Amino acid sequence: TDLDETIDRLVRPIADWPEPGVTFRDITPLLGDADALSAVVDGMVELAEKVGPVDTVLGIEARGFILGPAIAVRIGAGFVPIRKAGKLPSTSLSTSYDLEYGSATLEMHVDAMVRGARVLVVDDVLATGGTMAAAADLVAQAGGVVAGNLVMIEISSLGGVQRLEPIGCAALRTY
Ligand code: 5GP
Repeated sequence: TDLDETIDRLVRPIADWPEPGVTFRDITPLLGDADALSAVVDGMVELAEKVGPVDTVLGIEARGFILGPAIAVRIGAGFVPIRKAGKLPSTSLSTSYDLEYGSATLEMHVDAMVRGARVLVVDDVLATGGTMAAAADLVAQAGGVVAGNLVMIEISSLGGVQRLEPIGCAALRTY
């Protein structure tokens, strides 16, 4: 489709970044293009609407903060940030998860959502699914319900969608 072609043209692969052997998909050329940004947000809103009612869009630092609020405004949901450890000012819930080397901690304010809130988790890229799984853990701790996961790009060889079953993760473009 046209949207697939736009994403392929404007998401830039960066070899050996942030470390040797990793190819990082850099979305900044796409974000900088007015027509492409609009088309990607439209496409993600269409996928978000298939999830059903959503109270809260959850965005993961840092690129989930770019796409998440744009989608939240369009679907009439609020926005909640998940941040790396030590960044949030008020009392927070915390979850730690393993990375290829070492581990990472993500946090969310304890009062960020009401119990039973239906949550859509948004990020730019799904790789192993570890980050989305950590977000789901924070939602569960807060008494919310993950209604859906949504990304612009899924790297399918890393098995992220399978890891997130039964909810899975919707993607605009799969590589
Ligand atoms: P995962 O936890 O699924 O392995 O990795 C996904 C997280 O790392 C997301 O927060 C995403 O922003 C970031 N990430 C991993 N690989 C890439 C990539 O190639 N490009 C971009 N833009 N982000 C990536």
